[in-house]
Amino acid sequence: MAKVRTRFAPSPTGYMHIGNLRTALYTYLIAKKHKGDFILRIEDTDRERFVEGATEVIYKTLRDCGLNWDEGPDVGGDYGPYIQSERMGMYKEYAEKLVETGDAYYCFCDKTADDDSEENKPSGAASLNRCGCRDCSLEDAKKRIADGAVPVIRQKIPTEGTTTFHDEIYGDITVDNADLDDQVLLKSDGMPTYNFANVVDDHTMGITHVVRGNEYLSSAPKYDLLYAAFGWQPPVYIHVEHIMKDAQHKLAKRDGDASFQDLITKGYMTEGILNYILLLGWAPKGEQEIFSLDEMIEAFDLDGISKSPAIFDGLKLKAINAQYVRALPLEKYMEYAEPYIRQTAKREGIDIKELCSVLQPRTEVFTDIPEQVDFIDVLPQYDLELYTSKKMKTNPETALVALGKILPVMESLDSFDHDTVHDALFKLIETEGVKNGYILWPLRIALCGKQVSPGGGVELAVILGKDETIARIKKGIELLEAAK
Ligand code: GLU
Repeated sequence: MAKVRTRFAPSPTGYMHIGNLRTALYTYLIAKKHKGDFILRIEDTDRERFVEGATEVIYKTLRDCGLNWDEGPDVGGDYGPYIQSERMGMYKEYAEKLVETGDAYYCFCDKTADDDSEENKPSGAASLNRCGCRDCSLEDAKKRIADGAVPVIRQKIPTEGTTTFHDEIYGDITVDNADLDDQVLLKSDGMPTYNFANVVDDHTMGITHVVRGNEYLSSAPKYDLLYAAFGWQPPVYIHVEHIMKDAQHKLAKRDGDASFQDLITKGYMTEGILNYILLLGWAPKGEQEIFSLDEMIEAFDLDGISKSPAIFDGLKLKAINAQYVRALPLEKYMEYAEPYIRQTAKREGIDIKELCSVLQPRTEVFTDIPEQVDFIDVLPQYDLELYTSKKMKTNPETALVALGKILPVMESLDSFDHDTVHDALFKLIETEGVKNGYILWPLRIALCGKQVSPGGGVELAVILGKDETIARIKKGIELLEAAK
């Protein structure tokens, strides 16, 4: 078997939709599974859609995800150029070859013929774009060109018979040729349409497998007719279903979850996103759900690719992301978490390591953090009823007693690390002969003013440091005194 060569062919729109990223991932996995090459080709021929800096977004996203390409615009390779706009010279020659063999023709109809977009499509028979030019002799056409007429080149689709193409996911698909339109291959300015360029590029770059969104499925028979006209072997097609927001709507840019960058901004980890989109349209054989990139290469197979649209499931994404967050070594977690901590907790001298060790098991996405740590800078005004806990057998009265005992213990400590604070408080619990909660619950409330906090009394004290801990205990005592 020839070496497998796959390509990811994004258009530089400045935005990496997760559907595109999924295409890139599957494309990469197929190449690597077969020890083949993964190629990056930038399809920038639609200049109207061109966005400055967009190619960098593609590079950065793929690199961050570890989807490194073997050939591409920046790394080179034997099949370049890898930017479509730099390949312009070659398409005209190929289109003219098809005119010579009778598989394409010059069309001199009006200017809108350049544009096969939906809005410009005439309806009925004319929608197939079959005009009188189809049957003009090549000689006549060449004469008109010599006289200054500027044609487009259209594909000459047979009007009878059927075309069957094979897709690895959908099997054999047969269409009536009479339903296929004579699409433009080369525009009047000599530029190829996407539908022509991708065929020429894939063949001349030796691409063996094409993974793309199934919006291209309906064009595939026309591509196959082009391959046949050139006498080329078509690639293996793998069309993947859309990613949907719900049963009716595709996940769109405006939904805010649609791009890789949107999800990073929302506090997801690259590895979590990649793992989630792997499963959005592909089902593993066993129970395993968490895959490193190497494990993905090992496990991925075409059988697992789904034929039905995948619905984006934010909860599932979160759950997968949480597994990645929790598996981080603490030091690494701290690197990720600190900028989010600092959004609301700007206070100097807090114990970030202690804070992270209690936050990590409570983090699904990093954007969970700022709200969890907002008590650090400002002790919220809290209801003294928070001191009441049936389970802990505490109430404002017992809390006042407990805080009164905790204060001198905290004041007496020379160092304020976790073990010292822990041991001092547990010694107090022991000498008082009380339950843990009798001491630790009031301390927690006094330190954070909330019922739910990252960590209990010991951790909160260590996080805040000695001075702030003492100040907040005193504040608690003062509030409880005043309410007596
Ligand atoms: N440039 C096309 C896109 O971004 C690529 C389609 C294909 O893979 O053939 O949709």
